[in-house]
Amino acid sequence: MHELSVTEELLRIAVTHADGRRITAIHLVIGELTSFIDDTIQFYFDLLAPGTVAEGARLYFERVPVRFRCRSCGTEFAPSEQEWHCPACGTLGGDVIAGKEFFVESIEVGTDQ
Ligand SMILES: [Zn+2]
Repeated sequence: MHELSVTEELLRIAVTHADGRRITAIHLVIGELTSFIDDTIQFYFDLLAPGTVAEGARLYFERVPVRFRCRSCGTEFAPSEQEWHCPACGTLGGDVIAGKEFFVESIEVGTDQ
């Protein structure tokens, strides 16, 4: 499962940055174009985290909306589900400039250790 390896990676990153401190929360940024489902990542996280400093940490997800840049005129726009045409010149689609993100934005660590 793709989500499993992704969750392993985010856990590894978080634990590395925690530097031995207990993690209480992990903030993730996920583009709307990625197929990662919040619940699936939480599910794998709950399987993987016990025994690490991230055990019991809460996951927070920030969704990044999709944005295109028109290949004809350079206009940046947010496509809707039905409308992928440039609002300025009518060209269909464009280069994806936002919406494919997936990264750990920040972690919160406890002060009890
Ligand atoms: Zn255009």
